[in-house]
Amino acid sequence: MNFEEILLVSNDSLKVSRIIKTVGDTFKVIVANSDTALEAVVKNPLISGVIYDLSDESDKILHTFVVMRSMHEDLRMIILASTSFMKSLNGGNPDGVFWCFDCLDENAFREKLKEFKYRKVSTSTRMRFVEAVFDSSPVGIAIIPRDDIKRAFINRSFQAITGYNREEFASIGWEALTHPDDQKIDREAKEHQVILGEKHYNLEKRLVRKDGTIAWVGEYMALIEEKEENAVVRLIMIRNIENRKVIEEKLKESDRSRSTLLQNLPGLAYRCANDVNWTMEFVSDGASDLTGYDPQELINNRIISFNDIISRKYRKILLDEWDKVIEKRGVMQYEYEIILKDGTTKWVYERGVPIYDYQGNVLALEGIIIDISRSKKLEKQLQYFSDFNHKLKLPNRELLSTKIQKKLDAGNTLGTIILVNLKDTQRLYRSHGYQYVELLTASLVNKLKTLETNRIILYYLEEDIYVYYAKYRMKDSEIKEFYHSINVAILRTIIREQIRCNVGVAHLSKTSLTSDACFQKARIASEFIRDENRLLNINYYDDAMEKMVKREDDLKKELIETSFDESAGTLRLVFQPIIDLKTGKISSFEALARYKSPKYGHISPLEFIPIVEKNRIIVAFGKKIIELALDFVKKLINSGIKNCPVAINISALQLLDSDFIDDLILRIEKAGVPHNLIMVEVTESIFSANYTQLNASLHELNEFGIKTAIDDFGTGFSSLARIEKMRFNTIKMDRTFIEPLNNETLNYSTVPEVINICKKFNIVSLAEGIETKEQYDILQNLGCQYGQGYYMSRPLEVVDAIKFVKENI
Ligand code: C2E
Ligand code: CA
Ligand code: CA
Repeated sequence: MNFEEILLVSNDSLKVSRIIKTVGDTFKVIVANSDTALEAVVKNPLISGVIYDLSDESDKILHTFVVMRSMHEDLRMIILASTSFMKSLNGGNPDGVFWCFDCLDENAFREKLKEFKYRKVSTSTRMRFVEAVFDSSPVGIAIIPRDDIKRAFINRSFQAITGYNREEFASIGWEALTHPDDQKIDREAKEHQVILGEKHYNLEKRLVRKDGTIAWVGEYMALIEEKEENAVVRLIMIRNIENRKVIEEKLKESDRSRSTLLQNLPGLAYRCANDVNWTMEFVSDGASDLTGYDPQELINNRIISFNDIISRKYRKILLDEWDKVIEKRGVMQYEYEIILKDGTTKWVYERGVPIYDYQGNVLALEGIIIDISRSKKLEKQLQYFSDFNHKLKLPNRELLSTKIQKKLDAGNTLGTIILVNLKDTQRLYRSHGYQYVELLTASLVNKLKTLETNRIILYYLEEDIYVYYAKYRMKDSEIKEFYHSINVAILRTIIREQIRCNVGVAHLSKTSLTSDACFQKARIASEFIRDENRLLNINYYDDAMEKMVKREDDLKKELIETSFDESAGTLRLVFQPIIDLKTGKISSFEALARYKSPKYGHISPLEFIPIVEKNRIIVAFGKKIIELALDFVKKLINSGIKNCPVAINISALQLLDSDFIDDLILRIEKAGVPHNLIMVEVTESIFSANYTQLNASLHELNEFGIKTAIDDFGTGFSSLARIEKMRFNTIKMDRTFIEPLNNETLNYSTVPEVINICKKFNIVSLAEGIETKEQYDILQNLGCQYGQGYYMSRPLEVVDAIKFVKENI
């Protein structure tokens, strides 16, 4: 299409877009404002017409118009101005050579444009106009008729810029005003004009003002033929371009630094179209280093489009990112991967901005892309180190925790935790060594890993605890199936090694708003074993468990207070008589702890002792029990009963406490009680760990004259070989061996054997839980020395216990 170029001069961007819409398909429109209009005319010699918007009636716009009018006599013009303004200009006649539109009625405007195509403006009208505004123009104008400087007349601006008045100017002449350094280009321009036969030229040069200072001016020099007199009029127009020069200098400086920057950038600077290919208009040299492609290969998608360089999975993301940025008029920043010419990949960081035109359309995108592979690698490594268990090659708790937390924070509670809790590996450390357990663990983890799907991932939570995390809520049937798979995968190993594996299941829920709370629930479920005899168990965290956990939590708080003497509930002791089976008389008591909670009433020691142990307050708690037991002994002594010992149950944690024995002796002595009136019972099971240390403690207690008993004998791991070496005085046969004992089962019972061993090693034998006369008689006949049980007496309150002794001594 052959467009005619026209210049649209307006300071009103709204009007600009309206006019372009109307005439854009008929003309190629070059847009300028009053400041840039003159330059636009000079730079675009093919302009054949001007649409000049005078509607804001500012002086400035009017003056540039006048100047331009006289510079380009061939220009056809449309002037947009208000009717009243045109009247004042044109002797009250708005028609004539100037067309006036105060509003842009599109159809009328199009009609006028047709005329515009062939209409010309007459010189006389133009000159009249020039005169009208000659004196008030901000452009300095000198008109020199017949090119005779003596006849020159200048306007006010000319005088202001140069400092010379009309007479002075006429006497020294134009050439003399030019700065010596610029006289050469001045001459050359003139010669050029003569050689080429041109009527005008433009020049930027320095003037020396009358006061000696220097002024940068843009000079327009024209020779206008005067047809009548066959002579020429010289027209000189000067504009003060000081400000522009200063800005230009600065621009040049920043251009320089920009290009240095671009060349040394560890990456590429670009300007590209906002299209799906990111078609490159400009690419800096850094492209070769960054992508392997030369800038020329990228520009205009010649060899490859930039979009094809971006790794596939980031293409859509980047499109979306740019869309967002363009809408917000913000800055695009993103880290992504690119594919190099040699097929390898690299991490890059891009920072770019959209460039808009005056109408708010995106002209291009500009920015830089730099190589961040090294820092990315480092970052990934660091991330990997903090997020993974390297020995087991499993993602760890931190990673899962963040993942779940993010989800919960977003209000999403779809997810299931299947926690695998391996027990008793501690035991294997001792018997088989560290390395063995490590290998075993790795092999178990590998087996567990085979059950992973793309939606269920295995994580390492802490030693011996692993978690399958499903990012959706698993159905019960699916969990059952999954548990079955765990069973199939690891059962053989755990049977062979006799390790326990308890599986706890919990769903993410609104009641637990931290990832830790979710883990804890699954953990609790896993600890809640229904069947002690099975090596593999599964449990769901449900409402009942929630209640139990709450109860345990409440009790924990109460018991902690109680251990610090700020009694929330009450701790007391009851005393169960231990009978000499030969004589039927009382030989001693066992002290049994009782706790009454303000909230839950009477709590069994089977419930509260483990809570106390778990929360590490057993030492403080144990001291209270010892004090209560000593009180009882003192009461017995005061009642005249001076040879009835009391056995206190001591937990392993107490015995392992380095101060325990010293503290116990101190308390006994402070109470003024003979050492031999206190006995200590410890359960057999504690000897599975810390055997040597515990045995040494027993020995030490014996040295102090304190008798020791091994409680619940038969339920732990003691071998007969060990019994010989263990330093205790009494074996308390566990109730589970006594309960089934009657004359029919006697032949199969191990009770007679245990009694014989006691005799052999000179150990005192004691049977717990005697409930019937039959059991009592059998044990008596077998030669068991002592017995304890409901058959003889239930545990008694202090008063009743004292009464009991008095009756049975
Ligand atoms: P244990 O040391 O084996 O105590 C014997 C338990 O058997 C007591 O239960 C006692 O009431 C019960 N018992 C006694 N005779 C019979 C009987 O003929 N038939 C039946 N079915 N049961 C009988 P209790 O008092 O509930 O204590 C349970 C466990 O709590 C104790 O077992 C002991 O391990 C622990 N415990 C109790 N008091 C203390 C204490 O002061 N400190 C520590 N560390 N543990 C304690
Ligand atoms: Ca006991
Ligand atoms: Ca017992």
